Amino acid sequence: MKNIIFLAPPAAGKGTQSSLLQEKYGYAHLSTGDMLREAIASDSQIGRSVKSIIEQGLLVSDDIVITLLKDSLQKIGDKPFILDGFPRTYNQAIALNNMFNENNIENYIAIYLDIDEESAMKRALGRITCLKCGNTYNLYDDKLKPKQDNICDKCGSLLEKRSDDNEESFKKRFATFIENTKPIVKYYEDKYLLESVDVTMDTETIFKRIEEIIND
Ligand code: AMP
Repeated sequence: MKNIIFLAPPAAGKGTQSSLLQEKYGYAHLSTGDMLREAIASDSQIGRSVKSIIEQGLLVSDDIVITLLKDSLQKIGDKPFILDGFPRTYNQAIALNNMFNENNIENYIAIYLDIDEESAMKRALGRITCLKCGNTYNLYDDKLKPKQDNICDKCGSLLEKRSDDNEESFKKRFATFIENTKPIVKYYEDKYLLESVDVTMDTETIFKRIEEIIND
């Protein structure tokens, strides 16, 4: 089973797919967005320094996210892992390659989740997230609604709308993603380590396609 690097615009459904992969295959889910939101929730020094950057839909500095990711990678041991939201810049892709070389990690694939801006925006505006376990739901999709209003199916905590899931911040994040991701996509394409998946289909079909890729 391959380790996964998800390259996905905001609200492409990488959170949902990551949960399915965790349940079925025991993947560790490493989301730099979740790590940063946890830092903000715990009011740590990093949290205070990144709060307004995240709310504006801008990117946090490479140094901060690289440090957070390095720490998390070291903690998961031999589990297969999903990188969600990292790398977001070419520099982060190079840093990741170095981390992989240092830890003899060779079995991985970058998966590009392909979605147009309008569909992604609709998803973002309906999204609610569990701040405790990171599970995401969508109010506009009957299959992705929580069973009980505003309560996480997984851990029973309260669900919240992310403060950066508004129209203005979303547009900024989508544009930033497209601009920054082109060189990263090319980087993995050149290594023959890139697969693209159309994520405007239903959740089960997308999951099957991802399963084919990781078991190939
Ligand atoms: P996400 O949950 O992946 O959509 O991330 C939410 C926000 O966290 C992003 O809009 C960025 O402000 C910040 N962020 C997450 N991952 C990274 C990263 N790899 N590099 C820089 N900023 C990040």
